Amino acid sequence: MLQQIVFALVLGVSVFLAVRNARIIVRNIKLGRKEQINGRKQDRWMQVLRVALGQSKMFVRPIPAVFHLIIYLGFLIINTEILEILIDGLAGTHRVFSYIFPSTLYGILIAVYEVLALGTIIAAAIFLIRRHVLRLPRFASSDLDGWPRRDAAVILVFEIALMIFFLTMNGADRLLQQRGFYAEAGWFPISSWLVSPLLEGYSLSALFIVERAGWWLHIVGVFAFLNYLIWSKHLHIILSFPNVYFSRLEPQGQMTDMPQVTREVQLMLNLTSEPSAANGAPFGAKDIFDLSWKQLLDAYSCTECGRCTSVCPASITGKKLSPRLIMMKTRDRMEEVGRYLDRNLPLYRMPALTARHEAPPDSKPLLGGYITEEELWACTTCNACVQECPINISPLSIIVDLRRALVMEEARLPNELTQMNRNLENNGAPWQFGQQDRLNWAEGLHIPTVAELAAQGRVPEVLFWVGCSGSFDERNKKVTQALAVILSAANISYAVLGTEENCTGDPARRAGNEFLFQMIALQNIQLLNAYNIKKIVTACPHCFNTLRNEYRGLGGTYEVMHHSQLLQQLLLEGRVRVRDQHHWQGKTVSYHDSCYLGRGNGVFEAPRAVLQALGMELRELKRCRQNGLCCGAGGAQMFKEEEAGTHRVNAERAAEVLEARPDAVAVACPFCMTMLDDGLRQKAHDHMPPLRDVAEYVAEACEQTSPTK
Ligand code: SF4
Ligand code: SF4
Repeated sequence: MLQQIVFALVLGVSVFLAVRNARIIVRNIKLGRKEQINGRKQDRWMQVLRVALGQSKMFVRPIPAVFHLIIYLGFLIINTEILEILIDGLAGTHRVFSYIFPSTLYGILIAVYEVLALGTIIAAAIFLIRRHVLRLPRFASSDLDGWPRRDAAVILVFEIALMIFFLTMNGADRLLQQRGFYAEAGWFPISSWLVSPLLEGYSLSALFIVERAGWWLHIVGVFAFLNYLIWSKHLHIILSFPNVYFSRLEPQGQMTDMPQVTREVQLMLNLTSEPSAANGAPFGAKDIFDLSWKQLLDAYSCTECGRCTSVCPASITGKKLSPRLIMMKTRDRMEEVGRYLDRNLPLYRMPALTARHEAPPDSKPLLGGYITEEELWACTTCNACVQECPINISPLSIIVDLRRALVMEEARLPNELTQMNRNLENNGAPWQFGQQDRLNWAEGLHIPTVAELAAQGRVPEVLFWVGCSGSFDERNKKVTQALAVILSAANISYAVLGTEENCTGDPARRAGNEFLFQMIALQNIQLLNAYNIKKIVTACPHCFNTLRNEYRGLGGTYEVMHHSQLLQQLLLEGRVRVRDQHHWQGKTVSYHDSCYLGRGNGVFEAPRAVLQALGMELRELKRCRQNGLCCGAGGAQMFKEEEAGTHRVNAERAAEVLEARPDAVAVACPFCMTMLDDGLRQKAHDHMPPLRDVAEYVAEACEQTSPTK
């Protein structure tokens, strides 16, 4: 009876503290601003089943994934086993489920628990060795110094200890059963092998003490674990499920809209007479209060595994940015505010679930106080971190929101980006080129403009959106010409906007200037809608992503194709035919995935299919498809100096291309073309393999298309 009373007391205190801790976490998450996330419930549940429960993203690295799965299953199974311990503890029974379940089923259950317990001990030991003996780079890096490293070690040791207590309890129990002290119940394949032999010589009372000690240490350890969670990255065991459920379902390349900016821009352009919706809240995020609750949930869910940092091009090339650290700092700030709110709260009181949005008076905000400008400006918005994260966390969304506040609230941005914005405003392009020169690339090619067709009462079937790089950059003008020649040869009804074309606004948005982006976007949408444009093709993945995904929310809905998709279709339909099937036969080509085409929009096959249709043999780069490495130009990096690091991102990528030793290199993006051209020239000097856009390879190899000038 005494044991039951003590157990009930321990249980009551543990549950009280666990609920209290859970309320602190919920209250802290509610420090973020409101964000409506609903709809597509079926897709969300499927995502939970696949990513959170099925751990699909973990299996990109199968060996650690298997060990993680064992620990994870161990945790889940413990929960069912704990139920029996709880009933036994409160009712004073022993192995109560053995009276409820058939003996075979109960035997199997105990046997499975034991196998998983041993698996957990082995897996946790291997994880400890990886972290502290082998010192894997992503665990040895300085952003884990101090508490995060200790926390990971504590949890792994804790898990090993819990499993040892469990097996000790079972090993002693089995001997007690054999000596008739307890009724026979359960199969003990592991403890009978590892523990029982060590206890054979013990007296009945000594065995009973060992069994009870194992039982108590195990259950009290579980209660302690429950209450340690709030201080630990292991909160992800619980939070990963809601976090995955509420994660974004839109294409990764699509950035979040800012409706409060839209109203202001519409007012400026006289597109609405409704009053301003600005409510004094900052544009972008300066502190955790300006981030959404989902972004704060992301921070609490982060496992600090460092997978994001290990694939981040900025981090790989020695820049200050670490996406893992972005999440950890966001959580640190949230906890600092939370501790301040709880400062005078007695231990026996529950914290309120509604939070005061108040920071400690002497503390520094997230922007500037925790996360520096240098970190923010190092990001290429490549989405590699988002792709890699096993529970769909987006460090990028926090980076972008902080950039937005830097630019729109504080006007603090690199000089080159100030110049870029000025060019966008004055010239409709990020460079200082005049609008009147936009169509110079088409000299002698007789390319119709949409305005010319409109004058004849005609609308082109397809608008060829050239983009700034394709219009002004000498190297990329050749790609534009190649594509135009192919479109003409395939008898496609197309036209260009010519001098009416403007930048899509992509670099302004990625650089945090949402106002400028929306100004440009709304004007472009007005023009496209006025011309009744329905279908667009472009050779630029940045334009592709913006026109396809980001104009829709502003009133511009178009069917947008990347030129690799159109080329694939034309080759399939025979509207473009390969002239010499043998030209590329037996030759290898390495295709570099553009982030905004591949990861951003899931277009991986079309460019590869085009190259293979020309007879080329694909030689994949080490980091390709979803795991492709950025060229270094995205996120407006193209228009500014890279932040200080050990080397440039394009040099890293060029080295990987050369390592693959292909006969030719292919890209499908003007930014990638510029960055790789530059990187390969510096790395390969005279031995640079030919580097072309997929359209150029097609134009060279196909009938009725003349080589570009
Ligand atoms: S988006 Fe790319 S560059 Fe930015 S933090 Fe993530 S991985 Fe790094
Ligand atoms: S954001 Fe995701 S990938 Fe990065 S450390 Fe956290 S859990 Fe790991």
